[in-house]
Amino acid sequence: MSQCKIVILGCGGVGKSALTIEFVHKRFVTTYDPTIEDAYRKQIEVDKKPYVLEIFDTAGQEEFTSISDCTIRCGDGFVIVYSKADRDSFTSVKSHFDRIHRIKDTNTKIPIILVENKADLNLKSAVDPNEGEQLSKELGCSFLKTSAKLEYNVEKTFVSLVKEISSLRSVQ
Ligand code: GDP
Ligand code: MG
Repeated sequence: MSQCKIVILGCGGVGKSALTIEFVHKRFVTTYDPTIEDAYRKQIEVDKKPYVLEIFDTAGQEEFTSISDCTIRCGDGFVIVYSKADRDSFTSVKSHFDRIHRIKDTNTKIPIILVENKADLNLKSAVDPNEGEQLSKELGCSFLKTSAKLEYNVEKTFVSLVKEISSLRSVQ
């Protein structure tokens, strides 16, 4: 069975744990300790093939994060999350993107999906509706808007990433 190591990166409070736990356990958490970093395993079927996903939920804040360069080096695919309600989280996407590339140090394409979370929030967004997609084009990665709260595009995020990992593996 194919294994995929997926690392979730992004600033604190953007919903990394909420998205991970919604995907793995199908429940929405509202008070998850922001300092917890944990690994989850889930088996899924994509295009009729079984995969075991190992998902690393990171803490995001520099002072808490213990995610080692090693975890990133071993990652097969990455989800970079920002929140549409938090401008700074959007601004820091590039630093997460650069960190992945610096550590993986490869010429082959790295499967990365950029995710704008909290799509359910009906506020004046801190990030314009097209900015995320625009940035993803500049960075050359895929893009989805999600809501962990409404279970919107959560499964799709992981499934698209697995598809990308799998198609890159097949050409290597
Ligand atoms: P993390 O620090 O990135 O792991 O963020 P958390 O997953 O702990 O989420 C931070 C806060 O945002 C929590 O109160 C979550 O319930 C909330 N949150 C996460 N995802 C969503 C979402 O899609 N919609 C809304 N409205 N709130 C969310
Ligand atoms: Mg968290």
